[in-house]
Amino acid sequence: MLTQLKRIVQELNKIPTLDESTAWLVKRLAEVMQVDCCTVYLADYKLQQFTLMATEGLSKQAVGSVFIGFNEGLIGLVGQREEPINIEDAQSHPRFKHYPEVQEEKYYAFLGVPIIHQRKVLGVITVQQEEQRRFSEDEEAFLTTLAAQMALEVVHTQARGGLHSNEQKQLKQQHRTLRGVPGSSGLAIGIGYVPNARPTISNMILRRSADTDRQIFDFRAAVKLTREEVDNFSEKMKNDVAEDVLAIFQLYHHLLDANSLGNEVEEKINAGWDAISALKIVVDHYSSQFRDMNDPYMKERAVDVEDLGNRLLVHLLRGQMSESKRPDEFILIADEVTASMLAEYSESQLKAVISMRGSSNSHAAILARGMGLPAIMGLSDVPLAMLDGKLILFDGYSGELVISPSESVHREFAHLVAEEQELSSIIAEQAMLPAVTPDDCAIELFINTGLSTDIELGEGSEGIGLYRTEIPFMLRERFPSETEQYKIYRSMLEAYSTKLVTMRSLDVGGDKPLPYFPIVEENPFLGWRGIRLTLDHPEIFLIQIRAMLRASIGLNNLQIMLPMITSVDEVIESNRLIKQAYYEVKEEAQSAGLALVKPKVGVMLEVPAVIYQLPLLVDKVDFFSVGSNDLTQYLLAVDRNNAQVADLYDSYHPAVLNALKHIVEQANALSIPISLCGELAGDPGGALLLMAMGYRQLSMNSHNLQKIKWVIRSVPLDSAKMLLNRVLLQTNPADVKQEISLLLESQGLGGLVRAGK
Ligand code: PEP
Ligand code: MG
Repeated sequence: MLTQLKRIVQELNKIPTLDESTAWLVKRLAEVMQVDCCTVYLADYKLQQFTLMATEGLSKQAVGSVFIGFNEGLIGLVGQREEPINIEDAQSHPRFKHYPEVQEEKYYAFLGVPIIHQRKVLGVITVQQEEQRRFSEDEEAFLTTLAAQMALEVVHTQARGGLHSNEQKQLKQQHRTLRGVPGSSGLAIGIGYVPNARPTISNMILRRSADTDRQIFDFRAAVKLTREEVDNFSEKMKNDVAEDVLAIFQLYHHLLDANSLGNEVEEKINAGWDAISALKIVVDHYSSQFRDMNDPYMKERAVDVEDLGNRLLVHLLRGQMSESKRPDEFILIADEVTASMLAEYSESQLKAVISMRGSSNSHAAILARGMGLPAIMGLSDVPLAMLDGKLILFDGYSGELVISPSESVHREFAHLVAEEQELSSIIAEQAMLPAVTPDDCAIELFINTGLSTDIELGEGSEGIGLYRTEIPFMLRERFPSETEQYKIYRSMLEAYSTKLVTMRSLDVGGDKPLPYFPIVEENPFLGWRGIRLTLDHPEIFLIQIRAMLRASIGLNNLQIMLPMITSVDEVIESNRLIKQAYYEVKEEAQSAGLALVKPKVGVMLEVPAVIYQLPLLVDKVDFFSVGSNDLTQYLLAVDRNNAQVADLYDSYHPAVLNALKHIVEQANALSIPISLCGELAGDPGGALLLMAMGYRQLSMNSHNLQKIKWVIRSVPLDSAKMLLNRVLLQTNPADVKQEISLLLESQGLGGLVRAGK
């Protein structure tokens, strides 16, 4: 049975439209289960009814024309009960309803199983038989397993837009909505542009050539042109992106070197291939090697090799191809958006980015955020051609796209875009004013950073509340040396020389693996992460702390923060190592006639255990900073990266809010300065609640800073406190958000509700 099930599911996945796949499925199931009849019904929530989608055994005329209300008949009962219903004689069941069109008079045995995805009934699948009998437990289990697979198929097909094959024919003119992963926030309207007019290495056919000299000459010329092209990009991007991202271009240079990829291509040419074929063989070989690696970072390098191969190919094909038509302004769409692709177009041309592959943490998303460009990732089931040349409404907040919108939807969305722009300019006007409420409560706003591009964006802030040092570690191919780290930290501390910079020690592990330091764990978020890892490797910790301390000499604006603290002993051990590094660097500084000031050391409050040990930390730390992202994940036992439980991950959960309130009250009672640096601080409602709880320092993504400042300047502390009182009576996050929306709207800040999502 299991093999049959697997085979059915595999076949099913290959069929693009739902009416074709259900028709195939019912036929196949009737054979495999040896039943007389098999039928699939799909739910239509707008009309509150099930539609008969496909059948083997009932009248074919009924397909698409029989509708059963959610409360009607046995099909409705399966949907209502959300469980299988197995009946020996369906016709004598009180809920049996006779639909003459389906012609089921001869069937008695009935088994109906709901098709459910994430608690929602999407349809019902039934098998029927002339004989009066109960279906066996095995049959019931088989159909239930298949229905669960079918649910995924329905969801995926709907996402691909392939509900009906006849609908697909009209697709070109039709408005449709798609959903991906939000990569970078912002709204945009533009024409989709897929730069796929370029030939790709993967489409080239292998050919032999006897003219080896000519092929080598052409290849070297292509390398030279590609090298210049890469230089131009990196030069152009130098001021826009972090130094680390530019390392990708250095990798290109390295690959182009005569003794790297270049050498291998020439070897293949000497073996009788033409230049394009030789290039294809080498690129395919390397990219499949990278793709087969377990390490996610190394897997990503396959894209770089292919991108470089395609660039070389364009030069090799010079004169044989025409430039593809490109709108003046467009939404860039690619299977996998690469750094060099973004560099190729000016910021005025690019309205937004759609990357079919990747997630909110992939390079393209990091880069898009750094460039302030809206981005949506991970639309993997959608064919690129479906978006090319189409008018697209783009919502980077929700990850939603509307393709070929109707005029009314387009008009409506244009209003939202205009509102967003208007709101941004109003917010920007107040950017340099202090964050003080109308009733005089001052809040210090800091920014979270990790990319050097954020340096200018920190204007109007009190400094850096969280510098995620892991990002420079993640974008390298080995641990950065003390000197390399020193340079990065120094430039950050210098850029903020009059303000505080809180640098967090390396917080890798969990969802942030280092490419060159693989950690294989069943449960990485509960594993070797943050301070646990660095305390096990004091050499890594000491080098980092030394680099930070050296970088702070003469500037004295550094604070050190420790992530993932669970036990007091971890703090004692960290302090011991920090002290050791301090004395070493101090001595070195003194011998050079310089003075080192000891920085303040604080801990992140993000593991629930530490909440119950705050009094024990009083004499060991200088400050606390709450990491609400992890605190939410650990308090609610919900993996922050798992899309399956994404609906359960919510910092507005009453338990999280109560914990946050308890933390700030304790910290204040203990007289330890406290801030909060999770995403909640950059959310308008979150910032208000935190302020009402007693937080006076908030640190957030630089793009949210102005917005939060505006909220604080608009809402009195008293109103925020009343909001908090109401919120603490709610039992679920949705009701909390409802209260927040009401307050924001009453204060004329309704426009922020979208941005606050
Ligand atoms: C947090 O956990 O809230 C936090 C700020 O750190 P990170 O998101 O880097 O884990
Ligand atoms: Mg954290």
